[in-house]
Amino acid sequence: MSHISTDNSQQFASDNYSGICPEAWAAMQEANHGHATPYGDDPWTARASNLFRDLFETDCEVFFAFNGTAANSMSLASLCQSYHSVICAQTAHVETDECGAPEFFSNGSKLLTAQTIDGKMTPEAIRTLATSRQDIHFPRPKAVTITQSTETGRVYTLDQLKAISETTRELKMHLHMDGARFANAIAHVGCTPAEMTWKSGVEVLCFGGTKNGMAVGEAILFFNRALAEDFDYRCKQAGQLASKMRYLSSPWVGMLESGAWKRNGEHANTMAKRLHAAIADVANASIMFDVEANAVFLLASEPHLQQLRDRGWRFYTFIGGGARFMFAWDTDPARVDQLAADIRAIMS
Ligand SMILES: *Cc1c(COP(=O)(O)O)cnc(C)c1O
Repeated sequence: MSHISTDNSQQFASDNYSGICPEAWAAMQEANHGHATPYGDDPWTARASNLFRDLFETDCEVFFAFNGTAANSMSLASLCQSYHSVICAQTAHVETDECGAPEFFSNGSKLLTAQTIDGKMTPEAIRTLATSRQDIHFPRPKAVTITQSTETGRVYTLDQLKAISETTRELKMHLHMDGARFANAIAHVGCTPAEMTWKSGVEVLCFGGTKNGMAVGEAILFFNRALAEDFDYRCKQAGQLASKMRYLSSPWVGMLESGAWKRNGEHANTMAKRLHAAIADVANASIMFDVEANAVFLLASEPHLQQLRDRGWRFYTFIGGGARFMFAWDTDPARVDQLAADIRAIMS
């Protein structure tokens, strides 16, 4: 297993290279006293659910899952029958990184992918896909899923969200948001969580905890409560009902009560802007997507990227061939400056 490094200096290949933030850790530790009723009938889970309802200013249905793949797949399955289809961007995590789980959990709801410039869906792209076929031989489009912030580090504006939700409503489809990096999107736009979701027509949100600074866990919020019918059974069947649920829900209490969820998103975004500012004028490197959330995508020649790897930096190039750098709640500015200096040394 020679590829497993024992060097624990910060790497920015993904925001899930980071550990657990102090607020989440402290809450888990506090939850680790005495006994509690299992399967979610415990005070921590009730408290976390109510904190979500307060934060989103609405009486939403709240569920907890282990990871984003499960959260996305189960929630999309609850919006569709097996003969329906789900519209998403070609770069969407549900399409590229979930091993067919959305289709598997829905017993076959097909994903219909739209080409996009930067990972952002548009009402036009949705309409084109949704109306391209209306005959019995094609799975009927029933849901749209958008990622906020996107896999390319872009963020939908509230106007863009509203235009998308108007289109989906008109086409009699449901709107789902993959918020694996919801906190980064909120930090960028500066609006309330309610404004970015149900007030803009989003019916279901998967709110990412892992990349935001928790050990594990995503919350699934149904603003359209009718869509959550029997969702508890779906979670159990999918192997997503934690018996010691307090360890999945208590870190959320720590994150939401302290405001760490938002501070963490802000810090990660600031670190992305720091890298961008430090390398904006480097001659042989260009930025692929506007830096809005916590990602920087660097387009450079393969020999240059290889030199960056040779200096010990790890990164993925699966989106458009560029080097992706993702920042997290704990990113050390000095380490970002080291990366910037290496990019400059190689690519000037
Ligand atoms: C990380 C991520 C997820 C969740 O991935 P898991 O590995 O299943 O937790 C979902 N959507 C997006 C856009 C992601 O980046």
